[in-house]
Amino acid sequence: MNSEVVLISGANRGIGLALTEQYLINGCSVIATCRDIATATGLMTLKAHFADKLLIESVDITSSESIQRLANNLSQQNISLDLIVNNAGFLDRDNHSIHAIDYADAEMCFKVNALGPLFLTHCLINLLNKTRLCKIAIISSSKGALSQEQGVDWYGYRMSKAAANMLTVNLATELVNANVAVVSVHPGWVQTDMGGSSASVSVNDSALGIIKVINNLSIHNTGQFYDVSGEQLPF
Ligand code: NDP
Repeated sequence: MNSEVVLISGANRGIGLALTEQYLINGCSVIATCRDIATATGLMTLKAHFADKLLIESVDITSSESIQRLANNLSQQNISLDLIVNNAGFLDRDNHSIHAIDYADAEMCFKVNALGPLFLTHCLINLLNKTRLCKIAIISSSKGALSQEQGVDWYGYRMSKAAANMLTVNLATELVNANVAVVSVHPGWVQTDMGGSSASVSVNDSALGIIKVINNLSIHNTGQFYDVSGEQLPF
């Protein structure tokens, strides 16, 4: 049995829900965070099967108060974390040209995709298990890679994922001596609400690939960017 404790943001649907299920199947304890517990039916179903292993917590990743409340709740319960998966994401689907930019959507990308992981990590850093290697994963996107030519689309999303990748590099550098390893993962083009039904990767295959990348993460390869096949990507 795996005794690790994993915290996953945006766990009510898509990749976050699939990661939650897979980590539970692997014997981990999971703290699944979502905005609205009342409508998180997938998590409720998992709770029925994994009652002792699944804790569902309400968090709006754009709210520092909400994230701080989560940290206080976990601290009061003396919970130590082995892994934080920053998965919650937002896509400004219509911001595909400089002539058509919705500022609120672009701003939301930064709040959810870049500042959310920054503040979640800030609030939870002291809850990481100090007795063994801990890990932080940021579910990023190849669309945030500065070094790849990929046409023009989704201004806020791509800028915010590039910023999220910088968070990975910065965290990895700061935390290497604290025995915390950090990774950015591109989950593939995945069949979720964000990726759409024509996407090429099933949500379960993506989750399994992400878990494999995280399992292969050590202090020796901290601060890198991988896809779900384990191939290293350029930032
Ligand atoms: P979905 O759109 O299916 O799910 C997004 C998740 O993020 C939901 O749980 C949603 O919660 C949550 N979320 C959004 N805003 C907030 C917020 N303010 N506070 C808390 N949670 C929030 O996306 P995917 O599962 O496809 O994506 C997961 C990650 O993978 C994202 O970071 C995404 O950028 C990345 N990714 C996905 C790709 C794909 O093809 N699907 C490709 C590349 C990267 P709620 O239900 O409350 O809205």
